[in-house]
Amino acid sequence: MIPLKEAIKFHGHLGPYLVLGLLAGELGLKKTGAKKYFGLEIKVYGVNIKPKSCLIDGLQLSTGATYGKGNIRKYASGRIKVIMRNTEDNKAVTLRLKGSLIKELDNLKGHVNSENFARRLLKIGKQKIFTLN
Ligand SMILES: [Zn+2]
Repeated sequence: MIPLKEAIKFHGHLGPYLVLGLLAGELGLKKTGAKKYFGLEIKVYGVNIKPKSCLIDGLQLSTGATYGKGNIRKYASGRIKVIMRNTEDNKAVTLRLKGSLIKELDNLKGHVNSENFARRLLKIGKQKIFTLN
């Protein structure tokens, strides 16, 4: 996993959506077997406004798919969803946030709470954060 310090240095602050992007990218790579940087394509939905858009930086950092290379794109949606595809064998996975987690995220207020929640996300395990299909 990308050290959190590196992610914060790149992104500028620690927040839950940055961490969710890091975790989603890591999980997507594992499930698709895609190679970082050039062996994948990502479509990310529902992250057009801050703080949700912070998720995009986490995804870029953990997968190496970047806007510069054009292998990550965002789409408008009411709900966050990440589709990752291995471009070598077309194996794809769709990740969504669990409903209970979405409620907690929507209720977060203030920087300190957000930072604490971000750190907690790193510890609770991806199976409690995402649903896969
Ligand atoms: Zn952010």
